[in-house]
Amino acid sequence: MYEIKTTKLLKKVMRDYFVGMSSGNKKIAWCTSVGPAELLRSFGFEVYFPENHGALLGATRTAGDYIPVATKLGYSSEICSYLTSDIGAYLSNETPLLKHYGVKSIPKPHLIVYCTNQCREVQDWFTYFGKEFGCPVVGIKPPRHLNEVTTSDVQDVSAQFKAMIPVCEETSKSKFDIEKFGEAVKLSKEATVLWRKVLETAKHSPAPISFFDGAIHMGPIVVLRGTRQAIDYYKVLLNELEKNISEGTGFLENELGRVYWEGMPIWGKLRYMSNLFAQNNTAVVASTYCNSWIFDDFDEDNPFESTALAYSEIFINRSEEAKLNMLKLLIDEFKIDGVIFHEAKTCFNNSNASFGMPLRLKEETGVDTLVIEGDLCDLRFFSEGQTTTKIETFIEQIT
Ligand code: SF4
Repeated sequence: MYEIKTTKLLKKVMRDYFVGMSSGNKKIAWCTSVGPAELLRSFGFEVYFPENHGALLGATRTAGDYIPVATKLGYSSEICSYLTSDIGAYLSNETPLLKHYGVKSIPKPHLIVYCTNQCREVQDWFTYFGKEFGCPVVGIKPPRHLNEVTTSDVQDVSAQFKAMIPVCEETSKSKFDIEKFGEAVKLSKEATVLWRKVLETAKHSPAPISFFDGAIHMGPIVVLRGTRQAIDYYKVLLNELEKNISEGTGFLENELGRVYWEGMPIWGKLRYMSNLFAQNNTAVVASTYCNSWIFDDFDEDNPFESTALAYSEIFINRSEEAKLNMLKLLIDEFKIDGVIFHEAKTCFNNSNASFGMPLRLKEETGVDTLVIEGDLCDLRFFSEGQTTTKIETFIEQIT
């Protein structure tokens, strides 16, 4: 299987990001992964994303050590395992950032901002840390599960972003500057356009990048959007992938089937999953998850409304009907033979199989679907044996 060479640069970019934040020179704002990072950057904050830390806890398979620590504090082991593993790691005074980047602890926040466009769990999670660190916590609460995003929805969210300004000014000690906000949106837009191009290289067959690669290479678009570093990074990555397309090099030598991944990655089993599909000559070429950081509507000339729109219309915040339509489009564009729905035990927000969507999708597209059970971080909810059998049988069916 082809290994993406830009991964080496990715490690440096992520290291620089975490080490830079640990210097203590800049004010730190925590933010949810699809929260208003651009607005925070316009005040000069370094932005830290606890969900990224949760994913790292999952990927390093250390989450299992920390979830019981949070459970002792009264957090159910069946709620978001990002939340439980992150709080458990904090209470244990440990972080995988030490081993990976030489950073001893997560950065202390001066301000915490969450946006419930993805789930209400982030409210409890971030509020917990607000109390721990004694810093202000701002909650943005967009209308949820939208079929269409209306002008009044955008005005509502935009007004909530504007209401953040006094606390941002107070904690950053700098005045709001609409030009700086526009500049951060411009940088973010440039990065997100590149990220879209990166993901869309997988429309080619053989695909030069898999969903599992995407889950790794999405780091900068999550944590560094609104910065020049994210743009520079995706230019290099895109260049490698486009070169591979021109040379006919796919990540698989023999691509027999093409699969769409709906739902979250199983972080602790990324490599196993990647190998399983590769051994069966099947490319997982597109996903809801990686696409979640494509924000086409960002507009530097209209930063409040455009970010309010972009952050309200994300997949997770849409109605079943809107989600189905988005999936149908992607199945067509990426020439998908089968769709795998990952039902993550501790995140029903990012799991879409429980209310009949796989069947409806099959009826409307003729494309086969499969549901597998697992979790983002908590591997007690994942059975390797059962999953292998299910996936191999599914692949036989679709190829
Ligand atoms: S969307 Fe799911 S995984 Fe993400 S923070 Fe919310 S509950 Fe956790």
